[in-house]
Amino acid sequence: MSKIVFTILILSLSFQSYSHAKKQNVIIIVIDTLAANHLQSYGYYRKTAPYINSFGKKSILFKNAYTNASYTLPSHATLFTGVFPNLHNITSLFKKNTLPKKYKTIFEILKKKDYQTSAFFREKKELSRKFGFFRGVDYFSLYDAFDPAHSQRVKKWFNKQNHEQKSFIAFMHTNLVHTPYLSTNKELQLFTNKNYKGQIIGDSEKFIEYLKKKEVQKKRKQDKINEKLIYKNHFFSKNNPKSKYMHGKNIWKSMVKYYNPTDDQRLKNLYDANILFLDKQLEKFFTFFNKLEISKNTIIILTSDHGETFNKNGLYYHANLYKDVLHIPLMLKIPNLKPKIIKQDVQLADIVPTILTLLSIKDSKVSGVSLYPLIKNIKTENIHQHIISYSVNHSLSILNQKYKFIYYPQQLNETYNRIKDSKEEKNITNKVNTNYFLQLAKKQLY
Ligand SMILES: [Zn+2]
Repeated sequence: MSKIVFTILILSLSFQSYSHAKKQNVIIIVIDTLAANHLQSYGYYRKTAPYINSFGKKSILFKNAYTNASYTLPSHATLFTGVFPNLHNITSLFKKNTLPKKYKTIFEILKKKDYQTSAFFREKKELSRKFGFFRGVDYFSLYDAFDPAHSQRVKKWFNKQNHEQKSFIAFMHTNLVHTPYLSTNKELQLFTNKNYKGQIIGDSEKFIEYLKKKEVQKKRKQDKINEKLIYKNHFFSKNNPKSKYMHGKNIWKSMVKYYNPTDDQRLKNLYDANILFLDKQLEKFFTFFNKLEISKNTIIILTSDHGETFNKNGLYYHANLYKDVLHIPLMLKIPNLKPKIIKQDVQLADIVPTILTLLSIKDSKVSGVSLYPLIKNIKTENIHQHIISYSVNHSLSILNQKYKFIYYPQQLNETYNRIKDSKEEKNITNKVNTNYFLQLAKKQLY
């Protein structure tokens, strides 16, 4: 018997044994902008997320999970379809295209199987229904899923599901750790330096005072820019009002000269404080949810669409290809499956095929690969030859076992040794033969 046939046989046997279980619900939690390297579960020195840490210990935890896109829009389109950004092509806020019909969202697939489908998220430009990747969702709650002000609405929906016959899938998204990292919470005091006298406010009460100032209001009128933009411009470039929010390799480069290491640390402190705040909201939700009967047969996936950089080679925010942005948390809590740590490289596009295997559904053309064989120890070697992540201006990164290659059209590429230089500090492009990566990069461009 060939190895492939044998693997298929084992897989189908495991499908059968799994499918006898009660019909499973699915919750996908996306903590927008949560970098793996700011979590204890991934080696961070601070206790930013005690609840996520304990959740990870009860889950299948993927130590090396990478997003296929460095910013919100393409990342969610990939998460919901299992299809790479160069194929679904939902990559720009300014293009009017929608998700091609040939690619089915996880909501459409499960709706066909008689699932209730729901999404809890605050709609924004980069997470909008107009791009088509929410196709198949029946119930929308357009508030941040973990905003404490709207927790009753969330509870009401799950309470209702507890009495329904139908299974469900729920997408729960939060922006609580995303810029502008404002906070009035106790968590702020825990991580911040009280003696900080720099330019980054970070306290939402002070920020509101700032917005009320006359000159700020005048500027808002003059520039005809929306509040969000001034929010970001203020936060990142108080002394540089002309700088514009934009993606790309050079983002924030104009800003970096205004920051010193104390400011960088201030940004990290604020970000960490917001992670801790979010973590408390997660704990509150699960304290409620775990008491419901449905919790016993619900698969919970906790992940992020991308991470965040704090002055990595002069870059802040996300939408770049460094590890701080691409390395994301991925935890799968699956009823009746024991916790486990998996170290093989996996990617965001693998989530949909994994859900489909867990639910014994054969469907969809996807780019990703089911993680089920890794979860069940059917496979122990790497399942990907390489992982590709896309970013703006046609830049992309390719990871293989040994190297990380970053491709910038018309700019200098970068290569890092993943084993010896996991922090990506020493660009060795001139020392290694990058032809293989270049060929691959050019084939993948969209
Ligand atoms: Zn995002």
